[in-house]
Amino acid sequence: MLTCKGISRDDAYRLVRYDDAYDDNNKQGIAASMMVKASMLRDSLKGRIVTYSRKVFIPVTYLCRDYCSYCTYRKEPYSMDADSIMLKPEHILAIAEEGKRAGCTEALFMAGERPEQRYPEARSWLRARGYASTIEYIADMSRLVLERVGMLPHTNAGNLTLDEVKMLKEYNASIGLMLENASTRLMGKGMAHEHAPSKHPLLRLKTMENAGKARVAFTTGLLLGIGESMDEVIDSLIAIRDMHERYKHIQEIIIQNFNPKPNTPMADHAKPSREYMMRVVALARLIMPYMNIQVPPNLNPDFGEFLDAGINDWGGISPVTIDHVNPEAPWPSIDHVKSITEAKGFRLRARFPVYPEYISKEYLSSRVMEIINRMRDEHGLVMGY
Ligand code: SF4
Repeated sequence: MLTCKGISRDDAYRLVRYDDAYDDNNKQGIAASMMVKASMLRDSLKGRIVTYSRKVFIPVTYLCRDYCSYCTYRKEPYSMDADSIMLKPEHILAIAEEGKRAGCTEALFMAGERPEQRYPEARSWLRARGYASTIEYIADMSRLVLERVGMLPHTNAGNLTLDEVKMLKEYNASIGLMLENASTRLMGKGMAHEHAPSKHPLLRLKTMENAGKARVAFTTGLLLGIGESMDEVIDSLIAIRDMHERYKHIQEIIIQNFNPKPNTPMADHAKPSREYMMRVVALARLIMPYMNIQVPPNLNPDFGEFLDAGINDWGGISPVTIDHVNPEAPWPSIDHVKSITEAKGFRLRARFPVYPEYISKEYLSSRVMEIINRMRDEHGLVMGY
């Protein structure tokens, strides 16, 4: 995992051009051979265990200073009462405790990008409780959940400074931020990120770098179907690989598909096709053979097929809460995921929000390490699941 050699950018371009140049019959042959190679790499480097993280989703706040053209997560403050601008500690603890009872180990803390920069309502809510920022509040709530419930926080709350990463590291097992895509073209007029300055790839990469400097295991990924080209997909995978080669801290890459949602500027955009998704998953494996690669099963009805393209993880699945980013897409039951995984000849195991490769004093604070040591087996996976 810590070394990551794969095909070069030029080879990836060539593979795709070669595939594009052929008629449908040949194309299927080339794409299929990419997938066979990707699956063989997965088998030899990751084995036949496929993991998932049993989690609860904690939507700390729906406010966000940005506007992405596909997002239904963000809300305006006028749609909620002043008291519920952010989720209160008692509600956060209640969700975590319910998760604990259901055998979950991950508490996913989710928030929009720095809402306090846009909304006075967010600033006053935080100030009244002694916090200067949403991230400071999340760090404190992570402490509460870790200490009182014994669940492991994983924060996904936008871009982070180095100091913020260090603050979160004390109580978080890992941190996440989707790169989505490395192309600045997607920030242009009429594009998905036109009104979302926080989606500038240089800022996202800077956050990844901050996590690398702070020695934090980091989850990132691509969002497919938001107007990108295949070359831009390859460039994005290479940018993640370059970052990983510098700091060795990228633990996982999510290949996520855009899902059009009503009442958003991208409501009429097409979903990415299954073939495109499969091709990108296979390319991700060929570019980063050692990486943990994930496709979310709730966004893909025939999710089992992605095992044929080289994935080895299903990401966070909750038996307790909905996916607040994609509320229209319920998670399949863990039993169903297990039977699909086993039908393809794999074994399903629960992991922590931090992958086994990163369970060490270098990547985890002593508080987090202590909680993991109580629940882990000899492989660094969750005992009993
Ligand atoms: S930054 Fe995140 S929460 Fe904010 S609009 Fe974009 S996708 Fe939604």
